[in-house]
Amino acid sequence: MSIKSKLSNVGTSIFAVMTEMANKYNAINLSQGFPDFNVNPQLIDLVNFYMNKGYNQYAAMPGVLELRKILSKKINELYGRFYDAENEITITAGATQALFTAISLITNPNDEIIMFEPVYDSYAPAVVSNGGKPVSIKLNEKDFSIPWSEVENKISDNTKAIIINSPHNPTGKILSDDDIKNLEEIVKKRDIFIISDEVYEHIVFDSNRHISVCESEILYNKSFVISSFGKTFHTTGWKIGYCYAPEYLSKEFRKLHQFIVFAVNTPIQYAYVDFLRDQNNYLTVSEFYQKKRDYFIHLMEKSRFKLLKTEGTYFQLMDYSNISNKNDYEFSEFLTKEIGVAVIPLSSFYNSQYDKKIIRVCFAKKDEILKQAAEKLSRV
Ligand code: PMP
Ligand code: GLN
Repeated sequence: MSIKSKLSNVGTSIFAVMTEMANKYNAINLSQGFPDFNVNPQLIDLVNFYMNKGYNQYAAMPGVLELRKILSKKINELYGRFYDAENEITITAGATQALFTAISLITNPNDEIIMFEPVYDSYAPAVVSNGGKPVSIKLNEKDFSIPWSEVENKISDNTKAIIINSPHNPTGKILSDDDIKNLEEIVKKRDIFIISDEVYEHIVFDSNRHISVCESEILYNKSFVISSFGKTFHTTGWKIGYCYAPEYLSKEFRKLHQFIVFAVNTPIQYAYVDFLRDQNNYLTVSEFYQKKRDYFIHLMEKSRFKLLKTEGTYFQLMDYSNISNKNDYEFSEFLTKEIGVAVIPLSSFYNSQYDKKIIRVCFAKKDEILKQAAEKLSRV
């Protein structure tokens, strides 16, 4: 017997491939995006507390209500938009499940979903496995901004949604007020949904501010906004995220969500409620990562890599065109096996292997690890 693959062109995620390679060759792993430092002990204590207290059975299907309530307050304070905790916020198994659920519920066969390359790896497979067609638009070569006139040209009668991601993995670019206006112009007279991946909302640098699509009246009505605690609280392994959307969208979202996971980890949800009460726990994350970014840039000053500008996220792109003619996958393999630092080739964020001689590193690492990695990279 054989299976008719829903994802015949998809292999194993580059993040799994490079982490495995890093482990095999004992390389410093700057590839897959995750922090190597400890979770705040207070948060660990809270999880222990709720486990010991017996909060170990299924949570409510849309998530612990107290968590939805505190998120509703936080979103209102930060972005000036009220989402009803009862009906408009759903806790998910990481942003990945929220993205898959939102994409699945809006994608029917032959629907076109617009996304921007370089693109996070989970979006297109979610579209394809639901019979839809990913329509990829390359971000501008020069500064990775969105080419809005091209977006306008790519819209067809089949366009169902646009997926955006700000702060952007892997480029670190953040959306501006003008981007939001352009997006409003495009969707305002059309039935086009927005899926807005905002998982790095609390990692924004240089006194820039994260703009959520929910701040716009026009976009809010059409948007699923997705975030994740993993990035903000250094807990990527706990896999808890959330999706907020107006009631008519959240209602459909929950219909699918209940049969994909039903509910997610109970004691951790309770622990997050208490942890979120102190705003410092999320409002200081940008400053923390900005120091890491600046430290890494400083360490790499004497290297032959050219570091591109990072406005947010914990990723840094590095141009190696001065160093090697290898394609970016071969070069990443070389760095991992021979130099001892694992990185991600930028081409893996493109549909058609697009080699710009750029690699991505994750700087969410202890300073001494960044130092060791930079020393190795500077020898190249
Ligand atoms: N979106 C983006 C842009 C990401 O970088 C990631 C993971 N780092 C995710 C979604 C997935 O988040 P989670 O780990 O919460 O599933
Ligand atoms: N989002 C992380 C990254 O970009 C990886 C998450 C995963 O491995 N799926 O590296």
